[in-house]
Amino acid sequence: MSHSAPATPLLSSIDPATGEVVGSVPVTAVESIARLVFQAREAQRGWGALTHAQRADILRPAAARLKAEARRLGELASREMGKPLPEAVGEANYCADGFVAELDGIVAALADVVREDARVTSILRHAPLGVCAAITPWNFPILMPHQSVLPALVAGNAVLLKPSEETTLVALEYARILNEFLPAGVLTPVFGDGVQGRALVLAEVNLIVFTGSRETGKRILGDAGPGLKRVILELGGKDPLVVLDDADLDAAAAFAVRNSFRNAGQVCVSTERIYVDARIQQEFLRKMVERTGALRQGDPRGEGVNLGPMVNARQKAKVVAQIDQAIAAGATVLAGGEPREGNFVAPTILADVDHAMEIMREETFGPVACVQAFSTVDEAVRLANDTPFGLGAAVFGRDVARAGEVAERIHAGMVGINQGCGGADGCPWVGVKESGYGFHSGPEGHRQFAQVRVISRLK
Ligand code: NAD
Repeated sequence: MSHSAPATPLLSSIDPATGEVVGSVPVTAVESIARLVFQAREAQRGWGALTHAQRADILRPAAARLKAEARRLGELASREMGKPLPEAVGEANYCADGFVAELDGIVAALADVVREDARVTSILRHAPLGVCAAITPWNFPILMPHQSVLPALVAGNAVLLKPSEETTLVALEYARILNEFLPAGVLTPVFGDGVQGRALVLAEVNLIVFTGSRETGKRILGDAGPGLKRVILELGGKDPLVVLDDADLDAAAAFAVRNSFRNAGQVCVSTERIYVDARIQQEFLRKMVERTGALRQGDPRGEGVNLGPMVNARQKAKVVAQIDQAIAAGATVLAGGEPREGNFVAPTILADVDHAMEIMREETFGPVACVQAFSTVDEAVRLANDTPFGLGAAVFGRDVARAGEVAERIHAGMVGINQGCGGADGCPWVGVKESGYGFHSGPEGHRQFAQVRVISRLK
């Protein structure tokens, strides 16, 4: 009879373009998570006693290491989740190039603030919260851990990073680089799926920083409730694009195609619904179809490829089911729509869609551009707001004041006029309604990773 210990289950990353195993890591045993959290709390004592600037200085040299490894990290990310190689390397470079400025921005945002009146002087301090669980998705597998982990660490928290089960290897590499400089136990990777994620949420953590789907976000909020744990939830979207009758149609069509099909549509702020003035619809659609025809889909490491596969078969099945249902309900296919091998979904344009179709209501997260005509601006605004989501939005129109008025009426956290929804440097990344509960980035976002305290004395 054998007495050997049961083998540790492995979590394997599968290349969605080829089906090959990219690599494996041991799954973190759920029973070990309480101990990992305890160890993180021990490590946080010393880490939390440093100043923000000292912590940033410890992390600073990681920028050059990230830069030196950007190509390798990009290759790994591309293989794990299928985005075109230049985009994956670009993501790694973006994190490396902005690393030092991000550290300085966090330190500045968390500086003490003095408030006084005739009687009292108060100091507002941004203290650590304690132990942070950072739970991230796969669609930006370097950027999402980066945006969650850096502010949490500089604020003085210890972090347990649970990356998506689809992109474990690249997250492990990111953590390994930071851990070359951090004291032991301050940043600990945890590997697994929702089981490990939930165990972390239920453990003795003080802050949960989550980016992922609305459904998981709701579950996390429920699980965090009894312990009154601080949460930052960046969730899914169903972003509208409104194309007004005076829009520059080349610019609007270029944006619509780019923002519907980038990362094969697997972007939280993808354009998921397009509302176009009926008078310019045909011209706009013609330009969209032309641009879509020029896109290349295939091996993400292939020369000039714009779109790779869906991250996995489940995601493909969800997207294809939405497309098929819309077509059965009367949508017109202007591009794509036909079956593709493996995990690929062709870039697809659907016209004559409406809100009775699931594809106009639920997040698709695939390369589909859905176009619905409107007759009045009020109707466009009503349709854009007819969703529980509220992450990003865009309005295109040459009369910028008029487009701006429409932008103000759209209930989204971030609205772009003649551009995507991303704001200037220093702006938060924020969703409203069911797209966000808390937010990150920019001074306002960085402060969410800290506990404000007020120390007052008589003058
Ligand atoms: P997901 O919700 O399925 O998973 C996200 C993470 O949560 C993974 O690490 C997963 O293992 C973990 N998880 C699953 N169940 C859990 C539970 N019960 N408790 C704790 N953790 C759990 O999302 P996904 O498929 O990885 O990512 C795609 C989604 O992320 C889309 O909805 C997209 O819009 C959203 N997203 C949002 C933003 C944003 O900034 N708002 C950015 C990127 C992605």
